[in-house]
Amino acid sequence: MTDPKPTLRQLLREGHALLAASESARLDAEVLLASTCQLDRVALYRDGDAPLTSGAVARFRRRLRARRLGVPIAYLTGTKEFWSLELQVSAATLVPRPETELLVQLALDVLPSESDARILDLGTGSGAIVIALARERPRVRIDAVERSPGALRIAERNVVRLAPGRVRLLQGDWFTAVPPGNYDLIVSNPPYVCSSDPALRQGPTGFEPRAALDGGMDGMAAIRHIIERTPARLRVGGRLLLEHGATQAGLVRDCMTGHGFTDVVTAVDLQGHDRVTMGCL
Ligand code: GLN
Repeated sequence: MTDPKPTLRQLLREGHALLAASESARLDAEVLLASTCQLDRVALYRDGDAPLTSGAVARFRRRLRARRLGVPIAYLTGTKEFWSLELQVSAATLVPRPETELLVQLALDVLPSESDARILDLGTGSGAIVIALARERPRVRIDAVERSPGALRIAERNVVRLAPGRVRLLQGDWFTAVPPGNYDLIVSNPPYVCSSDPALRQGPTGFEPRAALDGGMDGMAAIRHIIERTPARLRVGGRLLLEHGATQAGLVRDCMTGHGFTDVVTAVDLQGHDRVTMGCL
């Protein structure tokens, strides 16, 4: 005789037990089971007696094992909320962070609601920043560059679903694929973690694409590259907005000032960390 199919309630208990070492065991088990069954979390309790298909059971158990190894929840559900939008993510993209919403907010602060500014995002990843901008500013014209083909596929899906026709996606290394012409605003959340930082190998960031995080010896390689090349591609009066590490604000400001930017200011994220620096050409 074969075992009866396990119910939602039984699987939730199994998941909770398997993840017990983690503080977020119950929540993680709920989120993984709900996403596996395409239910909301309330339904897990309301329909606790419902049995699962054997395919769903196997999928859930695979995700539980991966979660126990530390794989970020977002990679297991394939989604992450950013700017109140549900973005698709994969192991080819960074998991969008709340602090990057600060960059979006600062960009919106300099874009009037009917702005038709030309905007460039360098290293767009899942497309989080540009999709948020496209939705908030219906007339801006956006180009977004990404080097990784895997990330670009995810960005494309997100654009089609959340901001169709609003973002031109380009594959290339920083400015190499960018068409001629000057932009009004250039934004980027480039890799800025120091190569020696253990976070690149351990913990949740250890599962994220290294190319999206590793900014070289002092974490500044990509930031410098972008600042050096931006004046050739930004109109006079245009702005550059860069996310960076909490200890890099002084270096970023000096670099911008050294390349002709004025009104260079740093903004602090919700954790109180220096996080985004903006300069004007
Ligand atoms: N904020 C990320 C982290 O500290 C780094 C993101 C990046 O390098 N762009 O994990």
